[in-house]
Amino acid sequence: MLEPSDNRLRQREYLLQISRAITAQLDLSSVLNLVITYAVEMLAGTSGLIAIYDEESGDVLRIRASSQLPREMWPAFAPLLDMPVGDLTRHGVAVLRDVAADTGLNLRQMIALPLTVRQAAVGVIYAFRAALNVDFSTNDRQLLQDFADQAAIAVSNARLYQGVLREKQRLDAMIEQSADGAMIIDSRWRITTFNKAMEQITGWSREEAIGRPCAEVLGIHSAQGVNICLTDCPLQRRPFMDNPVANGRITSRDGREFYAQSHYAPQRGPGRVFLGAIANVRDITAQRREAELQNTFISVISHELKTPVSIIKGYASTLARQDATFSQETLREGLTIIEEEADRLARQIQDLLDVSRVAAGGVRLDRSDFSLVSLAADVVRGFAAQTEGRFEFELRFPDEMLPVHGDYERLRQVLSNLVSNSVKYSPDGGTIRIGARAEGDMAIAYVSDQGIGIAPEEQEQIFQRFYRVDNRLRRETQGSGLGLYLARAVIEAHGGKIWVESQLSRGARFFFTLPLARRQLTD
Ligand code: ADP
Repeated sequence: MLEPSDNRLRQREYLLQISRAITAQLDLSSVLNLVITYAVEMLAGTSGLIAIYDEESGDVLRIRASSQLPREMWPAFAPLLDMPVGDLTRHGVAVLRDVAADTGLNLRQMIALPLTVRQAAVGVIYAFRAALNVDFSTNDRQLLQDFADQAAIAVSNARLYQGVLREKQRLDAMIEQSADGAMIIDSRWRITTFNKAMEQITGWSREEAIGRPCAEVLGIHSAQGVNICLTDCPLQRRPFMDNPVANGRITSRDGREFYAQSHYAPQRGPGRVFLGAIANVRDITAQRREAELQNTFISVISHELKTPVSIIKGYASTLARQDATFSQETLREGLTIIEEEADRLARQIQDLLDVSRVAAGGVRLDRSDFSLVSLAADVVRGFAAQTEGRFEFELRFPDEMLPVHGDYERLRQVLSNLVSNSVKYSPDGGTIRIGARAEGDMAIAYVSDQGIGIAPEEQEQIFQRFYRVDNRLRRETQGSGLGLYLARAVIEAHGGKIWVESQLSRGARFFFTLPLARRQLTD
């Protein structure tokens, strides 16, 4: 038999071991096993159990550890678990007897105590004895209480740890799923977290990026080509910025160039010492381009619309002068110019409206079947009158050209635009040819000229909004760079394509395809 002083010593030793196990972050079950094993030994008991309340439901007890009770027997103790802890002292023994009868175990006495953390019950610890004659004393209760407290701490720690782990997983998932690039850097400016979007933006894989200096992986460059992250990191700028942000060019590892904006959320410790930061990186190339387009838009509008307005105003005020009389011919000439310029103004306003319509969601079409030959003849008639013999217009259609299916007015606009460009960009005149042929269920139409032509590297760009090739004619001819952009939108809305074949000073040939009328196809 152990002396009480030996007992206390061992108890202290056990409790110390348990608390070491808790701080060493052993998993919950092993700590609880340790607690119940030592508790049973110290109480000179036969066996024991620890049951913990389910974290989700909160009121269902589940056995998590036992001493001298094999796992298969745990279900037999369910009636004990169902009893309120307060009733166990008085009525527990009767239930225990039933359990003993069921399992064939010699269990006569029991002591049970709640495990509490900050006044909330998290579980129950049970110790059993076989002998009837040795009662559990107040001392025994105190002893079990000490072990119960340790078990409660272990449960509480495990729950806190689980909670932190869950939060971390949630945070990791949020960072990973973020559409923006996100990375975390430590106090030494090294990357510790790097999400999928960041891999796409920088071209660096997560494995390669982690551990490297952020300035090497992200490298935001100023317009002068200086790596801002090395020379002027917004996180190091003094005084500290409220919302550190860096803007600039990035060349990804795979050679893509774009414009990025990086927002930082720094973490600072005492004395504002840098502990790390989260960086949120966004590819803002499209927004920047949009902003540049806005500026171009405004300058184009002001320039293009001002020109006809000032011509109209000039002629109108001249013709309205009280002190001058004009011949019928001068009057008619002036009024014709006013009318033409007013038409031009109306056309340009229409173009601008169309552009915003296209940007807002496409072109609406009013389709019918009609002949491309008569559309071409109609367009040419207007231009032949305007150009006064400087050009020869040729229509080249097969005799049996099938009708197309489309929006007559919009396609008239497209064809007029192409012919108008051929006129504008052929300073020496020449032949302008319009033709078409059928291929499958599409018509391939073209407009060709003998003008200045378009260099290969410009041939895709000329279809962009406000794009005008930078040459002498750009300054001499009027234009907003919207015609081909709108032509492409209209042709694509018809399910067709538009492109150009050309060489510098060898003229240009614009092609577009359109669906042929169905009625004819089935004939
Ligand atoms: P705009 O003629 O108003 O400038 P467009 O969108 O119709 O705008 O054309 C864009 C640019 O493409 C023009 O500025 C011109 O540089 C070039 N371009 C278009 N058509 C021709 C052509 N037939 N020959 C040479 N260059 C052309």
